[in-house]
Order: sequence, then structure tokens, then C-alpha cells
Amino acid sequence: MEVQLIILGPPGSGKGTYSMRLINDLKIVKISTGDIFRDMATRSDELGKQVAGMMKRGELIPDEIVLKIFDERMSQPDTKNGFILDGFPRTVPQAKELEKIVKIDAIIHIIAKNEILIEKISARRICSNASCDGNYNIADISRNIDGTEYILPPLMPKKEGMCDKCGNTLYQRSDDKPDVIASRLEVYEKQTKPLVDHYRDKIPFIDIHMNRPPEQIVEKILSEIKKLGI
Ligand code: AMP
Repeated sequence: MEVQLIILGPPGSGKGTYSMRLINDLKIVKISTGDIFRDMATRSDELGKQVAGMMKRGELIPDEIVLKIFDERMSQPDTKNGFILDGFPRTVPQAKELEKIVKIDAIIHIIAKNEILIEKISARRICSNASCDGNYNIADISRNIDGTEYILPPLMPKKEGMCDKCGNTLYQRSDDKPDVIASRLEVYEKQTKPLVDHYRDKIPFIDIHMNRPPEQIVEKILSEIKKLGI
């Protein structure tokens, strides 16, 4: 299925985890601008250093840079059979540029409470091997908030601090530390959330609450996509 999707939601809402599972079911590729920038931030050139600084502070990378790297990624042949965009677009100008390049079939919008996001982001551990997508979460959340039941079990590695997939050590992203988390959530509210209104009546829009484990969320997303008949 050549489906072209955007997954939109605050940091820590599980976009990366759901996308990894969706690409297997839908036989599409995941394009994560965050992954591209994390890779760029390891380079010692001027741009690499600039990007690393902005990410560390939880700031957005300027639209011109984002659009350039996005265009480059989209020009690769593997995007022709469908894709899911994770972390892009993040501003209204990015969304407007995207509209000029491709048609999006549906937006998957993940809704989550800040108190849950803070807990989940602080508990995220990722693999230190850049070519591995190992991603874990040590928070075990099971409680009722304002009448909604949250059941979010941890995703633990088999051996503490080690990646199940490649055996490398796990680490905490520098932008997953408490002071940066608060500013990333604020940046989301101010700069990215306006995309919800931008898209809601324009493109088929799927609202999903992040109150269940990833496998249930992914099942819900797949059934909603099916209903749209894409
Ligand atoms: P993510 O992995 O999506 O949470 O992204 C990590 C960081 O990369 C963000 O906090 C931004 O600094 C940067 N970034 C990723 N995607 C974008 C984007 N579309 N626009 C601006 N900055 C981005």
C-alpha cells in the first residue's frame, strides 16, 4: 500500500515506537527528521555543532535547514512506495512547503497529558549504536487521571542498560533531561500544535489517545487507516 502519512504529537507520545511498528505492517519507510539531526549532531563540522547545540537546548532547527535535509531525504527512491513522517512538519511554514511536494493521505494525531509525557520522556533509553533503532522505556504507568485510565507498561531491555538487538549500551538523550523536557513541551504547544488546526479539516485526521500500550495504539491506528479506505 503506497500510503503517505504524518504522525503528529508531543515529544514522548510514542511517535517513533508506533512508526517503527507501522512501517512493518504497511511496508513503508519512516522518515524521522529527529534521527537525521541526531546523526548530523555527531559530526564535528560547523553545521553539526550548531545542530547539536540547538537540540541540546530543546530548540527547533530553523526551517531552511530542516527543509533542505527533508528534500534530500524525500529524493531517495525508497520514499516512492509510501512513508510515515515522524517529527516533520513541526511548524506551519514546514507544513506549507510539504504541501508543495507531496500529497498526504492522513494525519495520525497522538493526544497525551503533559504529566504522562514528562514521566515517559525521563524514562526513555535509546541504543548508543547509531545504526540500531533500539528504544526502551523503564516507566511503568498504571493509574487513573481525571477519569481516564492509563495503562502504559515499561519496555525493558532483557539485560539492564544493554540493547536487546545489538548488545550496545543504552543511554539517555541529552534532550530527555528534566530542564530540557519542559522547554520541548512548550515549543510543541507554541510552534507545532497549531498544525492540528491547520490540518484537521483539510486532510483525513485520526485522533488517538496515548493511554494504552503501543501494540493497542498501533492496532487502533491500522483500523482507522483501513476505515479511510486509503
Ligand atoms: P525528535 O526526535 O523528533 O524529538 O527531534 C529531536 C530534535 O530534533 C528536536 O527537539 C529539534 O531540535 C530537532 N528537530 C527534529 N525535527 C525537526 C523539525 N521538523 N523542525 C525543527 N527541528 C526539528
